[in-house]
Order: sequence, then structure tokens, then C-alpha cells
Amino acid sequence: MKIFGVTGWKNAGKTGLMERLVREITTRGFSVSTVKHAHHSFDVDHPGKDSARHRDAGAREVLLSSRNRWALMSELRGEDEEVLSDLLARLSPVDLVLIEGYKRDRHPKIEAHRAITKHPLISVEDDSIVALASDVALAESVIPVFDLDDTVGIADFVLQQVGLSVSQAKPTKAEMPLKNDCFALPPGVDWTPVDKALAHLRENLGRCVGIETRPVSESLGKVLAEDQIARRSNPPAPNSAVDGYGFAYTALLGKQSQKLPLVDGRAAAGSPYSAEVPLGQAVRILTGAILPKGVDTVVLQEDVTVTGLNVTFEGSVKAGANTRKAGEDVKQGDAAIGAGHVLRPPDLALLSALGIDSVSVFGVLRVGVISTGDELVPPGSTADVASTYDANRPMLLSLAERWGYQPVDLGHVGDNRALLRDALDASAQKCDVILTSGGASAGDEDHMSALLKEAGGLQMWRIAMKPGRPLALGLWRGVPVFGLPGNPVAAFVCALIFARPACGVLSGTAWQNPVGFEVSASFEKRKKAGRREYLRARINDHGKAEVFASEGSGRISGLTWADGLVELEDGARHVKPGDLVRFIPYGAFGL
Ligand code: AMP
Ligand code: MG
Repeated sequence: MKIFGVTGWKNAGKTGLMERLVREITTRGFSVSTVKHAHHSFDVDHPGKDSARHRDAGAREVLLSSRNRWALMSELRGEDEEVLSDLLARLSPVDLVLIEGYKRDRHPKIEAHRAITKHPLISVEDDSIVALASDVALAESVIPVFDLDDTVGIADFVLQQVGLSVSQAKPTKAEMPLKNDCFALPPGVDWTPVDKALAHLRENLGRCVGIETRPVSESLGKVLAEDQIARRSNPPAPNSAVDGYGFAYTALLGKQSQKLPLVDGRAAAGSPYSAEVPLGQAVRILTGAILPKGVDTVVLQEDVTVTGLNVTFEGSVKAGANTRKAGEDVKQGDAAIGAGHVLRPPDLALLSALGIDSVSVFGVLRVGVISTGDELVPPGSTADVASTYDANRPMLLSLAERWGYQPVDLGHVGDNRALLRDALDASAQKCDVILTSGGASAGDEDHMSALLKEAGGLQMWRIAMKPGRPLALGLWRGVPVFGLPGNPVAAFVCALIFARPACGVLSGTAWQNPVGFEVSASFEKRKKAGRREYLRARINDHGKAEVFASEGSGRISGLTWADGLVELEDGARHVKPGDLVRFIPYGAFGL
């Protein structure tokens, strides 16, 4: 375990510095615990508190526990104070332990200093003090001096001192497991509007995957874990945008026809012209070639005549024409792509152009899919019309794959609570999130909701939305479970609307809202207020949105017929042909 200390006289700003460092370093993805050395008069609870009464009565150790935290108090009863190494041995493993106030122990530490405390800066010649953090400028220090408020600089220093680098960071939120009530919507809400349900997911979910380093060539679809800083400018040097002839603009004479002698040689991409082009002369130059010294303007080869050793063209050329400036696209040191961005093919081009060959990305989210229901059988396996071919599993697995996650086929489980419990147990071991379909309502055979209720983490979300029955959300052994409706149309729409952005957050992306377009409707439709509706839709040859002939929720063929969804807002609406409606193409849902 790595340790680093913060010391300083009373009121020197130790605790404030500790607080800022803990926040900064945990935000960077490292797990941090702290040790605080307190005065002998300090106590952990107050006289009269139940735990203090246990201690007073003679208990050797008191383990105090509440819903929010627990603490083990051990009575020294006159024995020597524990040494730091013994105390540290009691902590669970973490990346870094920050220790406040242990002056004597010889661990590396930073000393906080405030001018107003008027104490000598370093009390003893303590060479375990490796830096100072001061609120005034200090001259002549042999060790680094930081501004007391330079949290970022001090955190960089501490991490570098203990040998922790960014690529070792682990997920922040995984260290802070999802709370059992993370899906709990405020009480008293009956039918929850879609936006409210989404806002709840957005606030309560966090990343649950680690960080790894990958070559850019293997990073397609991965989520960037850090901002990417340009290692060099694009373009790195001024160059020609066309094939033509380069020269210094100042040598041109007014607007008349120009005749410039050509120098011997040429400038091509990868083979620069190394000499200087004399004022009043021109050089043959090809696209991408660095502008030689003495060249700031290029004339297109189609606009010139080359006769013998001269190039002739009309004079109306602009200064700097057909050239690209160094860094006109991206400058070295600029943040080119931000953390949380999902890498697409053009992003790989940009990273490569900026000299970045490997990136730190989040690990791939493992998405488990289970189908439930006694009636389900593998497609084509029986002619029995009482059975239903399992349509949801291939759909949800392939959605996960399209979203860039690792699909984990967890199979099909009948309506049997014990078997379903076993399946969830096994899944929680190998998945970061579980999508189930079927059994999510409150009927006799709705074992998914019953089990999640049993685990204490069930929340039935009655979303004011069509299609969609209740969604059963919960945590199974700390793993979020999305209990989607069994009906394939409802399962699909609920997966696009809720599971997609939720999985995005779990995988480290920013919140994803599907981008829709206002298009004119080719249909008529009335809806009442009180719920949002998603209609299977596509854009017809006239550029208008048409909707599937039936809104029946069993009509899976409508999902295939469609290329997207028309979203009708929560309020009442009477759509007439020609009215604008919001069309969200499947592509906007990452399909
Ligand atoms: P449930 O939510 O379990 O009551 O299921 C609602 C409807 O969806 C029932 O008609 C089920 O047979 C059907 N269903 C459930 N799961 C699937 C599945 N994986 N594939 C196709 N239909 C399903
Ligand atoms: Mg069922």
C-alpha cells in the first residue's frame, strides 16, 4: 500500500489540504483511505452515547454500525498508542493512504504552511518532508514548494512520489458500489414520466468498468478514459494544399501577368526542398509538401503555363493562397478529444494524425441477457403452437454488441424462482449489468420482480409510456438488473430508451440522448395526455414520417418494417398529415 503524509502546525491548513487531495485523487480514479492522528484529548464519540456507555462499562472493543458507516473502537486503557504500521495494517487495501498529522513517522510527507501561524517552517531537520505547501512565496527552499491551493500540482506530485500513474487508476464508481436504492424513484409518484425516469438513471448510475491502455488501432468503439492531448500540431508544418508552384507573395508585381524563373528541384510530400527559394523565383511543389523557405503562396498547376525554365500565370493570386498553416487544424498541446467520447473511425484518424498511438480507455461493459418464461423455446425447435420462440435474447444480445459491449448469453430460464435465482447469481459473477425480459410485472409467474423484491433492491417503474409495461429495476449482488417487459416490441423500445443510456453511463460515456429530427408526418393520430408514445416509423419516399399500420404490441414485424421511432410527447396531441413530429432513426440509438 502506498502512503503519503500531510503535516503542519496547528491551523497551517493540513485538513483543508487533505480534503482537497482526497477529492482530487479519488476523482482521478484512485481509491484513497486516510489516517488522522488526533490529540490525546480527542475522542470518537461523546460521553453518554450508547457506544461510549459500552466502552465505559468495560467492553474491549465496540463495533459501532449504522446504515451509513461502521467504526471499530478499541480501548487502549493505558496501553501505548498503536504505531502507524500497526494501524495501517487494519485498513482494507487501497491505492493510497493519506496520513494527516503523524510527524514522527518516517513516511514521505508534505508540510503545510500558513504565514499567519508564525511557526518556523520546518521544525526539525526532517528529510522525510519532501515538499512544502505554503500560502506565501518561500525563497530558497531545497525541496519543491507548492502554492497551498495548487491541489492539482500537489496531487500530481504526490502520485508521482508514490509511483501511481494514471493508467493504474481504477474506476471511481466501482469503488463506490451502486446503492441498493439507486433505482428508488421518489415516493408518491404514480406513473413516472419518461424524462423523470431518465433523469433518475442519469443521477444515480456511475461507471463500473476499469481503465486499460490500448493501441489506437484496437480502440474502435471504446470509451476514452482521458482527454487526448495533441502530441504535435496538425499539420505539423506549413504545407501546400495543391499541386502547383510556390513563391514569395511579396515578389509579385501588381495584377499583371507574372513570369517567375523556376529553381532546380521540387518540393514533394515527404521530400522537402531544403534550400531557400530566392525572392522572385518559384519552385515546383506538390500537395502536402512543406513550404520551402522563401515560399508563402502557391498557384495551382492548372492556372499556369510552364515555358522552358519559367512559370507564367495571371497576377490575381491572394497572399498565402493554397497553403495550410502549421497547427491550423489542431495545435500541439490542445485537448483534441475529451474523456467519455466513444471512438469512431474518424477519431482514430485524428488521434493518429496527432501522434497518439495508444489511448487509455474504459474496459468493455459485459452485458448479460436472460430470457424468462415457461413458454419460451429455441426458435424452430418445436411445432407446438403453445410455445413461443425466444425472440428477445438474440435481439438484446445483438443490441449490446451494436452498442460496443460484450454480450453475455445467460440463456433461458423457465418460470421457476429457484432456477432464476441461481441464474442471477451466476450472472452477477460474470456481468456488469443484466438485461432480462419477461416476468417483470406483478403476476403469479412474474418471478423476476419477485426475486428482485426479495433481494431488497426491486423498484417497479411504472413509466408513463407506450409501449411498455412496468420495468423492474434492481441490484442483484450489486449488479444492476433491468427487468424489461417480455413483449418483444416493448422490450425493444424500453431497451432503446432506458437500457441504452444507462449502459452508457455504466461503461463510462457521457449521458447519451438520441438525436431526433422534426419531420412532417404522413399520418393522422390522436393521443391523450399523460404518457409518451413511441411509434414504429420510417421516412417514406417523400421525406415524410409514416408509421406502421398497427400499434399492436405483439407485432414484431413492425420493428423490422421501421427505421426508427416517432416520439409523441407526454401531452395530448392530434397529429395531422403535414404536422411536424420527432423522428428518431434507429441509428440515433446506436443500431
Ligand atoms: P411476460 O412479461 O413474461 O408476461 O411476457 C409478456 C409476453 O411476452 C408473453 O406473451 C410472453 O410469451 C412474451 N415473451 C416473453 N419473453 C419473450 C421472448 N424472449 N421472446 C418472445 N416473446 C416473449
Ligand atoms: Mg413470462
